[in-house]
Amino acid sequence: MLGIIDRGLIKSAGFINGHWHIGDKQFVVSNPADGQELLKVADLGPEDAELAVQSAAEAFSAWSKKAAMERSQLLRKWFELMMQHQDDLARLLTLEQGKPLTEAKGEIAYGAQYVEWFAEEAKRVYGDTIPAPGADKRLLVIKQPVGVVAAITPWNFPNAMIARKAAAALAAGCTFVVKPASETPLSALAMAELAQRAGIPAGVFNVVPGKDAKAIGKVLTEHPLVRKFSFTGSTAIGKLLIAQCASTVKRVSMELGGNAPFLVFDDADLDAAVQGLLVSKFRNAGQTCVCANRVFVQQSVYTEFCHKLLKAVEGLRAGNGLAEGVNIGPLISQQAVDKVDELIKQSVQQGAQVKVGGQLHQSGGWLYQPTVLTGVSNQMPVAREEIFGPVAPLIPFEDEQQALQMANDTDFGLAAYFYARDIGRIWRVAEGLEYGMVGINEGAISNPAAPFGGVKQSGNGREGSKYGLDDYLEVKYLCMGGV
Ligand code: ADP
Repeated sequence: MLGIIDRGLIKSAGFINGHWHIGDKQFVVSNPADGQELLKVADLGPEDAELAVQSAAEAFSAWSKKAAMERSQLLRKWFELMMQHQDDLARLLTLEQGKPLTEAKGEIAYGAQYVEWFAEEAKRVYGDTIPAPGADKRLLVIKQPVGVVAAITPWNFPNAMIARKAAAALAAGCTFVVKPASETPLSALAMAELAQRAGIPAGVFNVVPGKDAKAIGKVLTEHPLVRKFSFTGSTAIGKLLIAQCASTVKRVSMELGGNAPFLVFDDADLDAAVQGLLVSKFRNAGQTCVCANRVFVQQSVYTEFCHKLLKAVEGLRAGNGLAEGVNIGPLISQQAVDKVDELIKQSVQQGAQVKVGGQLHQSGGWLYQPTVLTGVSNQMPVAREEIFGPVAPLIPFEDEQQALQMANDTDFGLAAYFYARDIGRIWRVAEGLEYGMVGINEGAISNPAAPFGGVKQSGNGREGSKYGLDDYLEVKYLCMGGV
């Protein structure tokens, strides 16, 4: 693979108990920019997942008993190695995932920051003392790691979705098994290589790449030794996995689909709103769960906003993520292209207009043109479903009440954004949006210090921030009598 300096980061085997597992079968990982094969990777199965869980369970005893400071130092080393190899990791990420190299570099730094954050938080797991009901008693609360954590992650952030789960789990004293998306296992395996170089002990961080997500997923969700399951992906699969976890009453964290509204009020700074929308909508070619999915614009500024947006979108450059100056990379697969195409077709049939884009890019592959649709209603499929592509559907609204009603009219509740200046409106809208995260005059909200997560059918649990460790800790109450 061209341009990767440290060839030791290119791994084709799974990583279990500190060893690289080749397995009997392999699957092809290809570059979404041209469909070319990049590498064949070990196609591991349920027996390997079982082995990884066993290894994680064995490693748990020593890892959980390490001083927090020691776990912190190992995580810190892992973070430093990720940053030292940022360029190589970013290149690997663009090759397997497609996003522009600058975005890939951003993702490596973003993922690494979670590791840095939780290296610090590892030292801050505090308990409590509680006033007792009698003089001879003392009541205390201690926090302990939940145990073995299993995770399944998606292809849209091949590094960061693993980093923010694994860093929190390891910091808390848990051991970890992840099945990365089969489209993008290379970033996960490079992380395993760096974990090993950092000195993180065998069995603490395991990666099980494989095509048969269902079979591996069954082991990770039903194995009695796994005490906690963490998933990022679609709501449909998330529901299935929650049901599977019920058989052993596992704790679950779910980061599922979104349908983010992006509201532009008449008192907004329209230029800032356009810039915010470009970031929120077109990052990763629209393939993030916090991407703006519906753009609601107040009637009185609709025409002006539309004009400014079209000008900005026409300035975006789609192409191979490794090429200079490209801001939109390819979609992940033909299936992704077909879905976006279908949503646009349905919208047009129902009266929407394509103002710019609306089809595959002339350079071919899975490159989709950045698209703006007008005349969209909140009932059209493009507004009901998560688009996961570079398409901005514009929907007009009359007033605040209608805007909130339409914004909340969805089963999802991950991220929302709005642009306004009136302070009263800002509070009313921020409190009225039924979402886990709200960007106010801001299109990029995610960072390790902040709690990432959703409400309604967008999931539960929070990643990052001072709340992020709680997902991996059990609260134990100690009642001491006879004092
Ligand atoms: P996306 O549309 O982003 O691919 P998915 O929810 O389909 O979202 O996939 C997210 C992750 O879930 C991927 O790693 C995928 O391999 C895995 N996955 C998909 N189906 C299942 C399943 N039935 N059981 C376990 N994991 C699954």
